[in-house]
Amino acid sequence: MPQAPNDLPLADKDPEVARLVRAEDVRQRDTIRLIASENYASRAVLEATGSSLTNKYAEGYPRKRYYEGMEVIDPLEELAIERAKRLFGAEHANVQPYSGSPANLATLLALCDPGDTILGLSLPAGGHLTHGWKVSATGIYYNAVQYGVRKDDHRIDMDQVRDLARTHRPKLIWCGHSAYPRILDFAAFAEIAQEVGAYLAADIAHIAGLVAGGVHPDPVPHCDVVTSTTHKTLRGPRGGLILCRAEHARAIDRAVFPGLQGGPHNHVTAAKAVAFGEALAPAFRDYARNVVANARALGEALVERGYDLVTGGTDNHLLLVDLTKTGISGRTAAKALDACAIEANGNAIPFDPRKPFDPSGLRVGLAALTSRGLATEHMTEVANLMDEVIRHAAAREGGVEDDFRDRIRGRVREFLSPFPAPGLPG
Ligand SMILES: *Cc1c(COP(=O)(O)O)cnc(C)c1O
Repeated sequence: MPQAPNDLPLADKDPEVARLVRAEDVRQRDTIRLIASENYASRAVLEATGSSLTNKYAEGYPRKRYYEGMEVIDPLEELAIERAKRLFGAEHANVQPYSGSPANLATLLALCDPGDTILGLSLPAGGHLTHGWKVSATGIYYNAVQYGVRKDDHRIDMDQVRDLARTHRPKLIWCGHSAYPRILDFAAFAEIAQEVGAYLAADIAHIAGLVAGGVHPDPVPHCDVVTSTTHKTLRGPRGGLILCRAEHARAIDRAVFPGLQGGPHNHVTAAKAVAFGEALAPAFRDYARNVVANARALGEALVERGYDLVTGGTDNHLLLVDLTKTGISGRTAAKALDACAIEANGNAIPFDPRKPFDPSGLRVGLAALTSRGLATEHMTEVANLMDEVIRHAAAREGGVEDDFRDRIRGRVREFLSPFPAPGLPG
């Protein structure tokens, strides 16, 4: 058979890139990955993402396209939509958003006019940039008002949400977070939105897998729009998703395309369909339950070792560790941990006296480790490793000695070896 042009495997075609991709495979395999927004997508999801669907243009929606050759893309996108609706019990789904941030911007484009007032959780309190933070387009083009958490227990202050909503009469209220370890009371948000005549949008980017798995309250019955990423706890490809009530379907679809985006990324649409299918299977509920159980177990193990947790614990997949007492910042701790093959990120804590670039907290999430099959009984060792590294670094003004680093990295590799990472070569 003649060989097609441009048909060499990556390793032969571009050894330089192939080497880097392989190095990342190995890094992900040999690292305790605790970044709360990350996961291990399945081999099937990775395969769909790397398919010929990347070659196809499909501006528009199924049966209403601007290009020909849609006999595969249309049923594929319809399948993804149908599975998303079934998974979340939603009236309408748009699976085209390139990622979580454009999904949020599309929501505002659909329901608000530039200059309208929006109300969202502030970034330092655990919210997301796209909920109206000043450097984000959502804070530049909209009049953003922000709520926070209470000073005493660091929980979202629903009284403040109500007061701000009554004072500012927002067109839209966001609920959702990137660094908040407790469940959200969607019914309470809905009551406030209804009282002031605001749309309610939930952004479940972080917790979508927990919602789908039945271990976090369901926003869909309470919200006009629900946005999400597909790559965090939901464990799909890198991408976005919008669910909404039927009455907003047309506005949402028009906002995504042609309002904000061009052609959908069909290879990612295929991978989203795969991920929604995985999340519809009964095993996904076990995964979601285990994520929360692991977060709780790691939180308890850290508290036993003297660490402070924001809000004292967790209801979801993440912990926010307040490192103030240790004498090193979250960023310094994250760098020391990273040197030792333990990956987390420095994160602001509520009312953080330190700067955002060098904050007091460390954010830790359990979705990725849970996807490798780690269970609550393994969290003691994760806590031990974290604690040893943080204490070592704290005693050396953040420094990590080479032999200590090598010893911990060896222990991490050995600890993880019984838990092969999905989708990665061994
Ligand atoms: C991650 C996140 C987003 C943005 O997702 P991207 O895919 O990074 O654009 C939006 N909202 C929340 C709450 C998030 O946590």
